[in-house]
Amino acid sequence: MLEAVRRAVDAFARLPGVGRRSAERIAYRLARDPSGRLAREVVDAVEGLCAGTALCPLCGRVTESGRDACRLCADPDRDPALLCVVEQPEDIERIEETGAFRGRYHALMGKLSPARGEGVRQLRLRRLVERVQAEPVREILLALNADVESDATCAFLRDMLAPGGVRVTRLAHGIPAGSGVSYADPVTLSRAVRSRQDV
Ligand SMILES: [Zn+2]
Repeated sequence: MLEAVRRAVDAFARLPGVGRRSAERIAYRLARDPSGRLAREVVDAVEGLCAGTALCPLCGRVTESGRDACRLCADPDRDPALLCVVEQPEDIERIEETGAFRGRYHALMGKLSPARGEGVRQLRLRRLVERVQAEPVREILLALNADVESDATCAFLRDMLAPGGVRVTRLAHGIPAGSGVSYADPVTLSRAVRSRQDV
């Protein structure tokens, strides 16, 4: 394999959901286009994405760069007493699509995962505690995935948050095990939000 191809494959394979085989297919697809048009479109899109977006400093949602808060955090019609904690920014979009939740969000940027070296310090936990203290939060809905690491993260968050007198709930069962919020269909997710349970 040419050094330039290998470098591209290494980079693509770091993206979520892209294995080495898929990374190779992408690299060769781009390399075989003599006009380079597809490659330029991809590069332009990635540059636009990086330059035009930022994470909302409050909830962690991907938003337009240069904003103090995303549209959801700035919306006065959202219920400030309800806070939904998710693992990844894109999970916010999935739950918004259901229309079943009218509170605010907080993305952790991961979950407790010793295998991947994600611990308490890697997650946006301090910011979460600050928000719970500063905002009139009465219920925290843990909308995490359905796997062992997410379960451990849920237990950790419950122990951290519940002593403060806030009600801690969790999505009802029904999210497919191992797949998570990002892949759950809207009907299942909506049902899981509406019939959430105390933890
Ligand atoms: Zn926000």
